[in-house]
Amino acid sequence: MSSDNRTARTARRAALPALVAGAVMVGLASPAAASAMAPDTPRPAASVQHVAAAPAAPAAPQAAPARADDTVGQIAHGLVDSRLYVTSEAGNALSAADRRQIESRLDGFGDADVRAVVVGNDVTQQRMGQMLVSVANRVGEGETYVGVTADGRLMAGISQKLDEREINQIITRTNGQPLKDRIIDFGDRAERRVDANAASAATVGYVMLGLVIALVAAAMSVFLVARKRRRERQAEEMAELKEGVEEDVTLLGEDIARLDLDVMDRKLDPAIRADYERAMNSYDEAKRATDRAARPEDMQNVTRALEDGRFFMLATRARLAGDEVPERRAPCFFNPNHGPSVKDVVWAPPGGTARSVPACEADARAVLHGTDPDVRMVPYHGGRRPYYNAGPAYAPYAGGYYYGYGGFDLLGGLMVGTMLGSMMAGGLGGYGGDMSGGFGGEGGDVGGGWDFGSGDFGGGGFGDFGGF
Ligand SMILES: [Zn+2]
Repeated sequence: MSSDNRTARTARRAALPALVAGAVMVGLASPAAASAMAPDTPRPAASVQHVAAAPAAPAAPQAAPARADDTVGQIAHGLVDSRLYVTSEAGNALSAADRRQIESRLDGFGDADVRAVVVGNDVTQQRMGQMLVSVANRVGEGETYVGVTADGRLMAGISQKLDEREINQIITRTNGQPLKDRIIDFGDRAERRVDANAASAATVGYVMLGLVIALVAAAMSVFLVARKRRRERQAEEMAELKEGVEEDVTLLGEDIARLDLDVMDRKLDPAIRADYERAMNSYDEAKRATDRAARPEDMQNVTRALEDGRFFMLATRARLAGDEVPERRAPCFFNPNHGPSVKDVVWAPPGGTARSVPACEADARAVLHGTDPDVRMVPYHGGRRPYYNAGPAYAPYAGGYYYGYGGFDLLGGLMVGTMLGSMMAGGLGGYGGDMSGGFGGEGGDVGGGWDFGSGDFGGGGFGDFGGF
């Protein structure tokens, strides 16, 4: 904060020559405007002209000689240790007791940080403003400077805490009071205004902070609820998927058991024994993979093992019966538990287009006869559905069965028009201060971060400002 102030002050000092040049320009342009002013308007604007026209005002009886003005350097020097400076031109406008009282009161206005300069009665508000900026830049501290004539009639102020409108307002409201009272009242009002501004800024800040917190909390809550629902849904999907997969595993286990094979029989054909052991090993692998599975993707390993085990189970059964070992083709599309398909048949899902799918003997016959094939129905949302319409969680399940036969590429074609098909088409990823004008009239930005006000809304000019 203090380094900011320092930077601002440095900028102010740098802007000073331009500021003075601007003041001179305005000064040269002003006499016409000044002579146009009515001499006795009650507003401070008129007072500028009035006093300018009658510099020897009787309000400062103890006034020092008229051209004994103090320099900016003297005023600034005097304001380093005190908040009040009375120029020699202003003479004895204030008693020592009054000065002490003003200084003491100004010391209490720490937020507006007010310093006051009492000048001769012939000083215009514009010259006061010019002088205050120069003095403030020399002093290098203080947020508000007020100048007032010895008779208390004319006042001008600059501030970094109050804007032009606020300074003008305070000056207008303190108008008409005796010098001492007016300075104190100015300081008091300036302090209250600065404090009120800070309070409303703080209120806005708290309200904004509250809004931000509320928004973040709402967003977090929406996010958490959505995440909770998603996790619940995923957990439910996974539970149903696991139930369906375990049914396939159990079915293979039962089919293998039904072979009723005595592997200890020494007369057992080694080819039968080899197929049987492979079926058993695959079944064991499917069971282990089911237990390990934590995500739908993991089910692909289970159904790969099941496809393998089911083929060798059938091979064993064929050998035992003396039949030919079946050709190892892709599993029956309608129900992979039927084992290897025997042919391709043209089939269309309800409402879908026809495509060629691998089918077991029974399902091929059903399709050819126009009856319903024995479709694998899996647990889904508390009921049963064809596995290819049971949501994306079943994609890895299907993918594992067809892993050796083109995997998802094959399935994508087979399942066009089904839920899994449309999902596979999209990939499995889802799962898977202008000085020249500032002094000319009612005030405004005088540059260097100062706002100027004189309570003077009517414009006016100022003459030479020698002396300051
Ligand atoms: Zn079948």
